[in-house]
Amino acid sequence: MTVSQLARTIKESPTLRLNERARILREKGDPVIHLGIGEPKNKAPINAILSSAAHLNTGDIKYTPTDGLPSLKKAIIRYMEENYDRLVAPENVIVSTGAKHAIYNVLISIVDPQDEVILLAPYWVSYPEMVKMVYGVPVPVVPEDGTFHPRMEDIEEAVGSYTKAIIVNSPNNPSGILYSEDFIASIVDFCERRGIYLILDDIYHKLVFDGKRATPAYKYTNKDLENSRLIVVNGVSKLYGMTGFRIGWVVAPRRLVEVMTNVQAQMTSNPSVISQAAAEGALTGVQSVVESLRLTIQNNRDVIMQELRSFNGVRTTKPEGTFYCLPDFRAYSQDSIELANFLLEKALVVTVPGSAFGMEGYLRLSFAGSVKDITEGIERMKWALDPEAPNEIYIGDRKLIRDWL
Ligand code: PMP
Repeated sequence: MTVSQLARTIKESPTLRLNERARILREKGDPVIHLGIGEPKNKAPINAILSSAAHLNTGDIKYTPTDGLPSLKKAIIRYMEENYDRLVAPENVIVSTGAKHAIYNVLISIVDPQDEVILLAPYWVSYPEMVKMVYGVPVPVVPEDGTFHPRMEDIEEAVGSYTKAIIVNSPNNPSGILYSEDFIASIVDFCERRGIYLILDDIYHKLVFDGKRATPAYKYTNKDLENSRLIVVNGVSKLYGMTGFRIGWVVAPRRLVEVMTNVQAQMTSNPSVISQAAAEGALTGVQSVVESLRLTIQNNRDVIMQELRSFNGVRTTKPEGTFYCLPDFRAYSQDSIELANFLLEKALVVTVPGSAFGMEGYLRLSFAGSVKDITEGIERMKWALDPEAPNEIYIGDRKLIRDWL
């Protein structure tokens, strides 16, 4: 079978592959603990369910305008006012099938072949592949100082005449780091001055801990939206625990939204009306669900940090947001894919190799699951890797004996 050259270069999503492997192992009855998971466990908010059920009950399940239901766009406009302190017009908003699709739509609408898009390592695993899918060139920038926080000097060095955009994701998947206000102010100023698009993937923007806040980038530009280079991406997947509904959106200058609407019209048309109704319900309903999720996740963060502190040789930067952390496992292996496979095989724990995020030697661990899974998962990892851990462990009713260190 022949497939296109482009398709051949696109890597499988390692997170989705791991989900599938874990599902197969679980089906076989193996007590797998999933620390790779990229979604919170909470149920969809009741307002989301009622709103989509009400729409479904009408039986009138049709196309909506390509760029989204006007009532959902209204709810997004209110969300922008409340959370970003920006009044935007309906023409500045396009609703897509998840934030992933939203980002893809942005990229296909701004990137010419060979244009470069700067990614700040550690970066979300899908960015490089998405850039390649629009014939662009992903340019990772790794902080030279060994932290997870990007530095303007490294970015400025990587920017050249082909640079079309920079993607910023703060709080960050996979590190959990929240970028500093100074950094956001500098990168906004830099992009506005240089005419480089700044794509702000804000999908975790309210999952921030310890009283900190992710400051909206708009605060640092004095340009009006139509003349600004800022493009904001958000959605209901993470904050409302609605990953399965597949609703995300973009706020951008009108001309860009117009182009993205044409692209979307030829590609997917509108996102499902039932999902759009659900997103509208979530945005207009009781907002305490987000705070309650945030508190649960913050507590989970404390639990995983406590577990990791007593993991010999493993160093972890404390996450300030999201539900991920990215511990350094180089004391155990330089090859994170091999290590993740070993942990799945020997300890039945799913982790995501850091190499997928541009950080070889690290593993991404999710704390979106239950406290029990977090503690048991890390205990199993310690058992498999740490020579000072007990030689035997019970997984379910199975006794495992370590015979490899
Ligand atoms: N951006 C980041 C940084 C993410 O982690 C994810 C989900 N893993 C997305 C975008 C995509 O979100 P959605 O499920 O709405 O497509």
